[in-house]
Amino acid sequence: MPDMVVEGIKSRFEDFFQKYYKDQINDLTVSYPSNRSLKVDVKDLEKFDAEIAEELIERPDVILDSAKEALVGMLGDVVREDNDVYVRFFGQNVNTPLIMDVGSAYISKMINVDALVVKRSEIIPRVKIGVYKCSYCGAVYKFRSGKDEVPEVCPECKRKSLKAVEEESKFVDLQKIAVQDPLEKLRGNTPTWQLEVWLVDDLVNKVIPGDRVDITGVLRIRKRRNMKGKLEKDLYTMYLDASSLSPKQKEFAEIAISEEEERSIIELSKDPQIFENIWRSVVPSVYGHEEVKQAIVLQLFGGTPNKTLVDGGVIRGDIHILLIGDPGSAKTRILQTVTKLVPKGIYVSGKSVTGGGMTAVAERDEFAEGGWTLRAGALVLGSGGIVCIDEFDKIEEMDRAALHEALESQTISVAKAGIIATFNAKAAVLAAANPKYGRFDPNIYPSEQFDIPPTLLSRFDLIFPIKDIMDEELDKRIADYILVQHAAAGAHIANIEGYKQVELPAIPSDMLRKYIAYARKNILPRLSDEASKRIQEYYVELRKAGARQGAVPITPRQIEGLVRLAEASAKTRLDNIVSIKDAERAIALSEFMLKTLAVDRGGRRDIDTLLTGMPREKVDKINSVLSIIKGLEEKEGSAKMQNVIEEAEKAGMDAGTTTKYINELEKSGDVFSPRPGIIKTVKRESE
Ligand SMILES: [Zn+2]
Repeated sequence: MPDMVVEGIKSRFEDFFQKYYKDQINDLTVSYPSNRSLKVDVKDLEKFDAEIAEELIERPDVILDSAKEALVGMLGDVVREDNDVYVRFFGQNVNTPLIMDVGSAYISKMINVDALVVKRSEIIPRVKIGVYKCSYCGAVYKFRSGKDEVPEVCPECKRKSLKAVEEESKFVDLQKIAVQDPLEKLRGNTPTWQLEVWLVDDLVNKVIPGDRVDITGVLRIRKRRNMKGKLEKDLYTMYLDASSLSPKQKEFAEIAISEEEERSIIELSKDPQIFENIWRSVVPSVYGHEEVKQAIVLQLFGGTPNKTLVDGGVIRGDIHILLIGDPGSAKTRILQTVTKLVPKGIYVSGKSVTGGGMTAVAERDEFAEGGWTLRAGALVLGSGGIVCIDEFDKIEEMDRAALHEALESQTISVAKAGIIATFNAKAAVLAAANPKYGRFDPNIYPSEQFDIPPTLLSRFDLIFPIKDIMDEELDKRIADYILVQHAAAGAHIANIEGYKQVELPAIPSDMLRKYIAYARKNILPRLSDEASKRIQEYYVELRKAGARQGAVPITPRQIEGLVRLAEASAKTRLDNIVSIKDAERAIALSEFMLKTLAVDRGGRRDIDTLLTGMPREKVDKINSVLSIIKGLEEKEGSAKMQNVIEEAEKAGMDAGTTTKYINELEKSGDVFSPRPGIIKTVKRESE
């Protein structure tokens, strides 16, 4: 059964290729078979022959076959039987639905989707030409997969005795990926559909989960199987048979801003009150919490990204914030509002996301036909934006370990069953956690009130308790404020007597999104000498105070945090220089955090103890166990448990204590045990 190649169309393609793609075809004759695809812009075809271009969209199979035949003819003797050639079309601008709208209307048509890769299977060998032999009469047949039907009985002897001969069949690489609509096209929490995409031959291993891609392909269907694995009668599954695949840049700042809007943005930035205007506009439905709102504004703008240290390490620009406090307070509302405000925002709950859903994971599943699939979680999909994580304290153990790496070096590594993959996780995290015993108690160390390991807590730049304050007057004002908000949302009755005039946000949220996107894309602030000096002074001051109290109150990691906050502050007025005022603003937020977290501890501002609940002495001992492990690892590749205990004994620690500390380090994600008796440290880029 020959392919449907229409001779007229084939010769049109020969003319088209001669006219538009002669150089590329010449290159192909030289580089074949390592290159075996000709990339063709649909817009060129439109210019050459609008009718064929339209047919390509409506009846792609006939056109694709004809185009391929034309190419094969022009390449001549170069093409060998083992290596196929492909004409890969891209750049069409009709039939470009959202992935969630892809349905039966598009079956057998060529479509183009703007897609976010969610998961990827391993390579699955797929029969291209299947060789079958009759075990009764010995007749041999060749069938092309997807084109020819394999008969139930031998055409020669009419017996059910056809057997596949794998070693003589021809295979091609197939890789399945699942894609969804990009986050910025979704708006908040819309549930999203995934579409299966088949990548064949030279398209495999070109993308990983988290990548943003432009895919052109033919929407096909195959029979659906029910829960018992049987084929359903009238139900089908859709998948996209990719013709071409091109990676796209994905940025928080990927948002269209017109020249006129740019002028308004610059105009807004000149207002001396710009910072206040922004923070008052950011979560207008929540009363109070001024400092929290200010911190979130700084998070939205972010510090200067990808600063490289002398030793090659990279300092993140993303600011991580943790809100802790009473259930029922404004936390969830704040998280959901921020998700909707940023162009790329994801809202997830630590309770509902399981098994690598927060980070990334390799798992065996049906998607890969029983093989391995790499699946990206929220932090990978939200790369380039903000990930809001509610119920942070409920996150599963496996995600928690990967979060250490994700929050600090902004990558996530998966190493399992021979699969080694590193994903980008360049997202700022806004997290919220509930205390174990109902209410936040300022008299108890945070680490004792939350199921969050101290080392993970220390990855946050700012931690704020959000309290329900017991104050009748304040309660009345909050109740009043909520009433007004609801009234304003429901109807324009804000002027009715008894309600206060509603305060509209100074900057409407659509404009605010654009303002933030503009700043993130165009402004890269540097510290001025005065700002740098001010942060240094603050650091020295705190360390001196700490030394008097027998504790070290602030660590270099917190300086990086202050610098990020100060840079973000400069961005809010579109300034490339961080002024002393920006430094003061960062310090004020840090002070506010220390004060609220340590309110009843005699003014002690010891961040280590604050976060870890551990006295300095214990922190030191744990650190020395860690450096023993690192030392042994440097010499021998990994550390034997026994050797660690021996080394620690020399430093005056008994075996029991050492084992206990190793367990704590394992829990906190600093070390892991690849096999019993062996310990390795978890590598992080910035340390
Ligand atoms: Zn036979």
